[in-house]
Amino acid sequence: MAERFIPLVDWRQTNASPSIPSHLEAPTGLLADTLARPLQDLRISITDRCNFRCVYCMPKEVFDKNYPFLPHSALLTFEEITRIAKIFVAHGVHKIRLTGGEPLLRKDVEKLIAMLSALPTSDGRPLDLTLTTNASLLARKAQALKDAGLQRVTVSLDALDETVFRRMNDVDFPVSDVLHGIEAAHNAGLGPIKVNMVVKRGMNDQEILPMARYFKGSPFILRFIEYMDVGASNGWKMDEVVPSEEVLRRIGAEMPLEEIDPNYTGETAERWRYKDGGGEIGVISSVTRAFCSECTRARLSTEGKLYTCLFATGGHDLRTMLRDGRSDAEIASTVAHIWRARGDRYSELRTANTDLTDQAIRKVEMSYIGG
Ligand code: SAM
Ligand code: SF4
Ligand code: SF4
Repeated sequence: MAERFIPLVDWRQTNASPSIPSHLEAPTGLLADTLARPLQDLRISITDRCNFRCVYCMPKEVFDKNYPFLPHSALLTFEEITRIAKIFVAHGVHKIRLTGGEPLLRKDVEKLIAMLSALPTSDGRPLDLTLTTNASLLARKAQALKDAGLQRVTVSLDALDETVFRRMNDVDFPVSDVLHGIEAAHNAGLGPIKVNMVVKRGMNDQEILPMARYFKGSPFILRFIEYMDVGASNGWKMDEVVPSEEVLRRIGAEMPLEEIDPNYTGETAERWRYKDGGGEIGVISSVTRAFCSECTRARLSTEGKLYTCLFATGGHDLRTMLRDGRSDAEIASTVAHIWRARGDRYSELRTANTDLTDQAIRKVEMSYIGG
């Protein structure tokens, strides 16, 4: 077996302290980067901890009992998260996704949801507030999340086969509990529910068809995600990626499919539907068909650093600005300055030059930045 290289650099230390522009400007609800991409979505990681050890995300050998997870004092408080979110919403953000780590592990997450759901958007349209979860705590929390103002959830589920799923989450978590969580979220009205399956060749690609069959005709939209070279600890190799084209070919051979229009420009998933009316599926081709040209997404890490790309090598420390007593106007102008300078298009460049993945040592972990 090939030896795996696990870097020991703590990527959380690589960050820039943002400089505050001398001219302060009020947000206008429209902010574009150097490639004319507007700032529209914000993903907020509310914890870097997780009760799963998915092999492609938080492998046990790295995220063990000695792993230096962030201390509580480093995490943004709910008030701090809400203050930053309000600034992003004033800049034109319409969609906020809470993630992690496992976001439902954060104590009193319903309180944060209630605070965020009350934020006014720049044009009066309601904020699209959602959350991505492994569903381990969903059955217990679905109703409280809905009552707090959460609109919908996305659930991660990588296999229906018990052995395969337990091998992937690596903590022996049963499939049935995830399925109960999905059902409870549906009953609480947290829909439309999307189910995300990361496909890793040789690990769970034999589950593509069983998953498609299971969710066909259900109210849930199954989406297949190409396994990405995110972070520095998963030992990613291109031949472990199952291209979306292959996923569609395998499903289409048994259950014919046709493509449908995206819901909106910049949607990361390509949409397909069963020709016999059995509902829709999606594929997210982050590796084989990069969608950087339409990427309108910013990410806020657990400790308040702003990342303008999932593959960014450093973040902009907004927490220090908050804790140094900077005003909303100063923070808003700094965010505007950072977004306007943004030119990230990692996945497009990777497609053009696969050697880029050798830079893995400088990438941040998904559990910290938020997937
Ligand atoms: N713990 C929650 C969950 O699993 O849904 C939220 C955080 S998780 C980092 C968000 C999403 O990122 C999950 O759907 C997960 O499968 C996906 N993910 C993690 N590592 C990935 C990788 N290397 N390639 C593709 N997707 C990945
Ligand atoms: Fe945890 Fe989600 Fe990462 Fe799995 S993918 S280890 S559930 S954060
Ligand atoms: Fe967006 Fe970066 Fe992903 Fe491209 S690589 S789609 S810029 S997050």
